[in-house]
Formats: sequence, structure tokens, C-alpha cells
Amino acid sequence: MASPEPEQVFQIDESPDETAISQLRKKDSSNGSNDEQGEEVVNILELGIDPTTTETGVANPANQMEDGDTDKNLEKEVVKKDKKKKKRARPARPQVDPSQVPERPPQQTGNVFNIWYNKWSGGDREDKYISQTKAEGRCNIAKDAGYTKADNIPGSYFCLFFARGLCPNGKNCNYLHRLPTITDIYNPNVDCFGRDKRSDYRDDMGGVGSFMRQNRTIYVGRITVSDDIEEVVARHFAEWGDIERIRVLNSRGVGFVTYVNEANAQFAKEAMAHQSLDHSEILNVRWATVDPNPLAKAREQRKLEEQAAEAVRRMLPPDFLEQLNAGALQPAKKRKT
Ligand SMILES: [Zn+2]
Repeated sequence: MASPEPEQVFQIDESPDETAISQLRKKDSSNGSNDEQGEEVVNILELGIDPTTTETGVANPANQMEDGDTDKNLEKEVVKKDKKKKKRARPARPQVDPSQVPERPPQQTGNVFNIWYNKWSGGDREDKYISQTKAEGRCNIAKDAGYTKADNIPGSYFCLFFARGLCPNGKNCNYLHRLPTITDIYNPNVDCFGRDKRSDYRDDMGGVGSFMRQNRTIYVGRITVSDDIEEVVARHFAEWGDIERIRVLNSRGVGFVTYVNEANAQFAKEAMAHQSLDHSEILNVRWATVDPNPLAKAREQRKLEEQAAEAVRRMLPPDFLEQLNAGALQPAKKRKT
């Protein structure tokens, strides 16, 4: 018999083998940029900012002409913006045939409907049977993601069924059908699906997680042992958001995946629960325990602070940022490309 999977494995900080991630990042910049760009544009459009104006405003010499011409330019840009909006926005596609789905209550997260918060709570458990069974569906971001009713409502949560590849509602869903981004920020008491976190992790590190700690790392167990585990894990988990680092224990079939954003880790944990990678394994996906290494702790703290600052920056209007930058000693000409 194969050696049993260790119950709790601490994250290991020595020799972080990040080659697979950097390879993946390269791949991303060459072909996968579409997705990310789409995401970016949608976000900017939601804020009512035209992403093209800042760029062209600097680069286009026509802007330095007299007032009459600038007006025309503005008009052109508005038209461009409209076109872009039409081209980019795509309705979410139903992931399963609605007629094949048995009548389901509007259950997003649990077993108790809380009328004060208009959502479900509880439901934070997994039984033995489910954990031995392969997931019924699998989300395909490239094909399934799109706008839903939830995109017009600020503070909407992500669709748990979408993450699991099982939402029949498509664009009519009341939850978001896309990947979380850095600007999707929720109350620390809930996850991106609107489920209540707890003060403590469950003993098995499954479930929704704890509000005492921002956890961006998921533990992936029961991976079929092979020489290329790291590449396999990187390939499958990159679908759910930007990955900061991946560490694997090849011989044990175990990996740790750290996402840049907490919400993407939450999404990935649901999306990959009981899925298979390149073989017919049934993954065991849980929250990672705290890395006891003090260096790692300090790094995590720094990272969270940077991230919060970046999120705020992205939500500020561009003219305000301009002013901020102009006031600084060295005007940072950092623009999103
Ligand atoms: Zn849905």
C-alpha cells in the first residue's frame, strides 16, 4: 500500500522551486493575456473610466491641438469606448442544461436562510462519502465566465455553483460568474461566496476558513505521484487566478498553491475540490496551515499591506492619482498597460 497521506503538513519554505510558476507567467503573457485584459476593462468600465483616455492622452500628439480638435478627439474616444464595451461584454453561459437540473432552492451556501442578510449560512461541512467521490462538474473560465445580473449590483458575491461548474442560470444568475480580482473586497467575516467564516479552522482545515487570518494558500493532497507534479499543479491551478508561488512534495503527492489574492484562493478551493489533475485521482483540497517560518510570516504581512494599498489605488479616479503623483518627489509614471 502507498503510504497514507499526512494529516497535516506544514508549508515548507526551503528551496522554493518556482520554476513552474515563472514558466507559467511567461505563457500567460504570451497567450493568456486576453482573459486578464478583459477583466481589467470590465472593472474599469464599471468605474466609468475609459482605459484608453490616459494612454492616448499622453501618446497622441493630436491632443495638443486647439480646443476644437480636442473635442472631436473626445467624441472619437467615446465611440471607441462604446464599441469596446459591446465587444468585451459577454453573457455568462449556463454550465449545465437547466432542464436537466432538479428543482433546487436558491441555495448558495448553506442550510439556514438568514433573512436579515438575505443569504444562507452554515453548510460548512463535507461528509466522508462526498470526499471520496469525484466532483460532478468543472468550471471552465474561458468558456463559462461572463456577466450576470450580479455585475450591476455592488458587493455581489461569487456563484458557488459556477465555481463548481454546475450553475444552470447563466446570465440570469444572481451571483457573479467570473474570477475574483484584487478589487473584489469583502467583509473579513465572509468569503467571496458570502459564506460565514468561523473564528477557528475546522480540525481538517476544510470548509470556509477562519476570519482570524487572511489565507491565500491552499493545500492540495492525493495528487498522483509523478515527476512533473509541479508543472501539472501549476497548469491546473493557474486557471483560478494569479499564483504567487507553488511548492510540491513530489514523493508524497502533495502541493501548496499560494494565490496573489485571498478571494482567488477561496475560488480555487471550491473549483478544485474533488477534481482530478492529469490522472484519475480525487484531490483533497484544504486550507494550508500557517507557515511557522518567521521569514515567511513577515513576507506574508508585507504582501497583504502592499495588496491593500494597490486595491485602494485602483479604485481611485485617475485625475486624483495624477495629482498624487505630481505632488510626489519623483512622479511615478506607472500606468497599467
Ligand atoms: Zn450562478
